[in-house]
Amino acid sequence: MGDAQAACAMTDQPWCAMEMAAPGRPLQQVWRQRLPQPGPGQVRIHVAACGVCRTDLHVVDGDLPWPGHAVVPGHEIVGHVGALGAGVAGLEVGQRVGVPWLGWTCGRCEHCLAGRENLCTGARFTGWQIAGGYAEQVLADARFVFALPSRYGDEEAAPLLCAGLIGWRAYAMAGAQAQRIGLYGFGAAAHLIAQVAVHQGREVFAFTRPGDTPAQDLARSLGAAWAGDSEQAAPKPLDAALLFAPVGALVPTALQAVRPGGTVVCAGIHMSDIPSFPYRWLWGERRIVSVANLTRQDGLDFMRVAAEIPLQVRVHRYALAQANQALDDLRAGRFAGAAVLTP
Ligand SMILES: [Zn+2]
Ligand SMILES: [Zn+2]
Repeated sequence: MGDAQAACAMTDQPWCAMEMAAPGRPLQQVWRQRLPQPGPGQVRIHVAACGVCRTDLHVVDGDLPWPGHAVVPGHEIVGHVGALGAGVAGLEVGQRVGVPWLGWTCGRCEHCLAGRENLCTGARFTGWQIAGGYAEQVLADARFVFALPSRYGDEEAAPLLCAGLIGWRAYAMAGAQAQRIGLYGFGAAAHLIAQVAVHQGREVFAFTRPGDTPAQDLARSLGAAWAGDSEQAAPKPLDAALLFAPVGALVPTALQAVRPGGTVVCAGIHMSDIPSFPYRWLWGERRIVSVANLTRQDGLDFMRVAAEIPLQVRVHRYALAQANQALDDLRAGRFAGAAVLTP
């Protein structure tokens, strides 16, 4: 591997990326003749696999503000370091690393200084403002690159970088005392965090799109105590509900499923509008909170958990050139688990 990476780093062979010129357009395969050179503090990574996240859909569909330049999506990147920029310490050429959504923070704003870099006002994100992993090569800020647990192959490790990590942050917000946890939207994030919750002795209730039997079967096979349609009432009052589906109407639904004092955690970066609902559904010190991005500490914490717990990562594979198909299939809910692109 080391030799192959070194050879790749030295030959300026053409490489490709899947790029979108404007929101709403399909991604197009573009070829670049020169390898990107890492600037100070950066690394170049030879991509081995990149997960397809729902946030990628929000980027390509224009739900998030367009950054004003062509976008290469992808923020669940697994690859090998091909070159180090000036001043990079603690990483080696050939080492396997992962790159998450949070790609750069200022380190100086009130949020960064308070340990909430996920809220940094100047933050830049991988696969949105920063060219992402729907590509054979990518540059990343070395400070926002994680070592990955060796028990996972490249394709299995990719969904850990966002589905796992954001799922983990949402799960942590439910609180350590939350015993009965509802997961609304049983896709890439929920199928990973369900396993963490079960492993930690929690009771998991999986709510899927009505009639999504494969996702319900997957949930039960991973240890969920119950799986059913999101329109169904929870069989028991929940201590917390984690919303991974970008459906605002699920907020009042989930509020009615949690007990007094319970928490509804909205994990998505974008959600359709939340319909109005009677105040008594919120009454009883129920809380609605959102999860924004991640911190590097979340990454370290979750990778430690993923190293300890043998997570089964359900991967649905696509070639890099099939990125548009992967996004369409995710939008339509045509597969269970996590989509991953491989160059
Ligand atoms: Zn994501
Ligand atoms: Zn900041």
